Amino acid sequence: MPQPPERPTALSLLQRVFGYSEFRGAQAEVIDCVAAGDHALVLMPTGGGKSLCFQIPALIRPGVGVVVSPLIALMQDQVSALKQQGVKAAALHSGLTPEARSEVEHNLRNGELDLLYVAPERLLSGDFLNRLSRLDIALFAIDEAHCVSQWGHDFRPEYLQLGVLGERFAEVPRIALTATADYRTREEICRRLLPDNAKRFTASFDRQNIRYQIGLKARPREQLLRFIQDRHAGQSGIVYCMSRRATEQIADWLNARDIPALAYHAGLDASVREHHQSRFLREDGLVIVATVAFGMGIDKPDVRFVAHLDLPKTLEAYYQETGRAGRDGLPAEAWLIYGLQDIYRIRQMQSESSAGIEHKRSEHRRLEALLGFCETTTCRRPTLLGHFDESHPGDCANCDNCLAPPPTWDATHAAQRLLSCVYRTGQRFGAGHVIDVLRGESTERIRALGHQHLSTFGLGQDYSRATWQSVTRQLLAHGYLAPDPEGHGGLRLSDTCRPLLRGETPLALREDQPAAKLQSRRRVEASDVAVDPDTWAALRAERRRLAESEGVPPYVIFHDTTLLAMLEQRPINLEEFAQLPGVGARKLERYGEAFLAAMAALPQSSLG
Ligand code: ADP
Ligand code: ZN
Repeated sequence: MPQPPERPTALSLLQRVFGYSEFRGAQAEVIDCVAAGDHALVLMPTGGGKSLCFQIPALIRPGVGVVVSPLIALMQDQVSALKQQGVKAAALHSGLTPEARSEVEHNLRNGELDLLYVAPERLLSGDFLNRLSRLDIALFAIDEAHCVSQWGHDFRPEYLQLGVLGERFAEVPRIALTATADYRTREEICRRLLPDNAKRFTASFDRQNIRYQIGLKARPREQLLRFIQDRHAGQSGIVYCMSRRATEQIADWLNARDIPALAYHAGLDASVREHHQSRFLREDGLVIVATVAFGMGIDKPDVRFVAHLDLPKTLEAYYQETGRAGRDGLPAEAWLIYGLQDIYRIRQMQSESSAGIEHKRSEHRRLEALLGFCETTTCRRPTLLGHFDESHPGDCANCDNCLAPPPTWDATHAAQRLLSCVYRTGQRFGAGHVIDVLRGESTERIRALGHQHLSTFGLGQDYSRATWQSVTRQLLAHGYLAPDPEGHGGLRLSDTCRPLLRGETPLALREDQPAAKLQSRRRVEASDVAVDPDTWAALRAERRRLAESEGVPPYVIFHDTTLLAMLEQRPINLEEFAQLPGVGARKLERYGEAFLAAMAALPQSSLG
């Protein structure tokens, strides 16, 4: 009797097909679990290596692995990357020509596919499920599983119906994956998509390669320009702004200063949006200036920075948005600037919102968390990760506060004076007037209101206007002050400020740094390897050439990590080339010679 073919092991597939030497974190455990036919929930941050968790079991188990994915762009990217690695993968979505579709369906029927990516609506159509039930299915992978949550902004109603997979295909293992760190969403995924006995795998959500930096907004455009020019010239990045108009204006402004930039927001024509997104994916060194509409499905591994010119909505949103940087594991930066106006505006929006009291309270807590994170004077990671119930010891050595601890000052007395000035002026005025009174200015308004007779008039002449603004901002951020609920721009005291006024709790505040200080640190290199710019450019040019001839984004040929390893290890033959990370058998065969030739063609001086 013929023996059934021996199943490949997970490790041999990792090495041979994907070109990596060892598994990362929980990958091996997840793969064993799913390959053995069990169900799994995988919570890993962006860049954590989720894809292999279902791709490898799909190759180990007989039949086709069916991957549910919410976006065509995501599917196409993964499918072209898999094909480059010699895996038989295809996608079924609404963007296919009838011929292309029938070819995929033909291959599917004949058992010629290892992985099939489908949109949920397609998968769920009754006919398609019937056809699948006649085939061998290796597994169902539900990618971006947080789309099932009605609380998140990526909600897709079709995801709710994926529970039917459990009824129709009880024997087939299901694996749900997400980078969402939010507890409520996790529970919802489990409840709706997985059986009770599903195993859970949770990786640390710390993105060690991302450097968090938060500074004061002074002249935002110039600050952004300096940041990009000083540290990310020629690199890809995302700039988030609140308004659609701002995205276009800032993109124009950057372009005029020789930084190639494109705008992206929901108000643009779908075709323009698609064009801008695909240019961002395919070209090196493009900056996209976007609203939050830009995000999910950006699989680009070499985004070197994410800049926020406005405060994100919540700390979760901040984490997700900044998480799009550095997916390849190389150093990346998350940079945010904000000021008094931003806090004021958000607080205002909240108090005006017509939402129910419960909702308002939770919005309020979310804002507190975000502002607390912005204003913290210690390592940012404990606050950020603590928000997702993960502990971090601090001293990460890769956030602004660790790299240059911000000076603080005892602001107890100053805060008391400001708070009592707010009180004495009737809790009706904005920061401008309150500070005028404190500084003893002679304005028309002060004279008209007789505020020069208040006991707090002129009590604050010892500090500059800027210092008082800084105190106001931090008191607002820490919740001692609140905007008046009528929305006229006035400040009022919160209950929490009593102990402070009575002198029972001291208050240390951050000494605001001049905006320039945030910029002045060392440029982040693609890695710590001293990159020879000519060799680097030559390797990238070769990659671009191959990418164009294959019709795929450059990173589908090789990630930057592989190019950097070429620089470091200088392979001179195919055997050495095969040792590079990310070089599997198929890519070795297709691209090894080309890159070896490109390196050999360099003048000797740049080789080392
Ligand atoms: P996620 O989907 O979790 O964001 P990906 O699956 O895209 O992450 O993987 C992120 C990056 O890490 C990719 O460049 C991938 O090739 C790489 N990677 C994944 N697993 C490994 C591994 N075991 N060794 C080295 N690199 C890996
Ligand atoms: Zn730190």
